Amino acid sequence: MELRIGILIVGALYWDGQICPASCDQDCRKCYRHRWRENRLKIEDASVVKVPIRYGRRSKLRGNTYSSIVFDRTSKLGEALSVPCINTVHSSADLIDEAMHMWSAEMNGDNKSMQISANWGCSALLLNPECRAEDKIANAVIAGWAARVEEERINYENCRSVDKNGLLLIDWPIRADGQPLELDLLLATANRPDTILPSEKDVAQSFFEDDLRNVSYILRNHRSGIRTAYDTGIFAHIEELKAENIKHSD
Ligand SMILES: [Zn+2]
Repeated sequence: MELRIGILIVGALYWDGQICPASCDQDCRKCYRHRWRENRLKIEDASVVKVPIRYGRRSKLRGNTYSSIVFDRTSKLGEALSVPCINTVHSSADLIDEAMHMWSAEMNGDNKSMQISANWGCSALLLNPECRAEDKIANAVIAGWAARVEEERINYENCRSVDKNGLLLIDWPIRADGQPLELDLLLATANRPDTILPSEKDVAQSFFEDDLRNVSYILRNHRSGIRTAYDTGIFAHIEELKAENIKHSD
């Protein structure tokens, strides 16, 4: 069995991280994500895929703004990036290893206990339904994944976009250009959605209340091709809030 795996990215994993000199040490947090992409991903083969996503989690690190995208099957389809991994998967151990590398990138290298989740989100798996129907994905891989997920049960229980076996609760994505997505497995970071999902205006308001300090985050997502169906509305509400504020200060 040899399975093609990729990472489904809905945030900064795709664009964050600086490029340090080659002499930079392995523990450097600033370039960790960049090195992860170089060492594990075929970034040049990324494709745009349609997935149900929205901004749905406040981030303490980013001024309590709704800057984290969540998967939510009731949301309109937006666009995310699917990036093939360099390595293929022959066993559940390979799959778990890929997830640990992804999670270390999420943590900018600070993942000494080699976790695959945290209280704010978790690694989630998607299976290509055609490969599943053809029995290409061995049951042992899925069972091995579920057993590993069980070790971090509390984080998974808290994340309603993922089931108890660590499977992401959305359909296998289609490519924006209509071509088939030629992968067997996808791993994604599923941010734990906030209890009540915010409206476009709520998202805009959160950035405004933070004096727009973190609006570059959502703009960088958008420019990188990570786009929710609600982005245009969010940007319009931000402009409205700016205009209102100017009026009030007159
Ligand atoms: Zn560095």
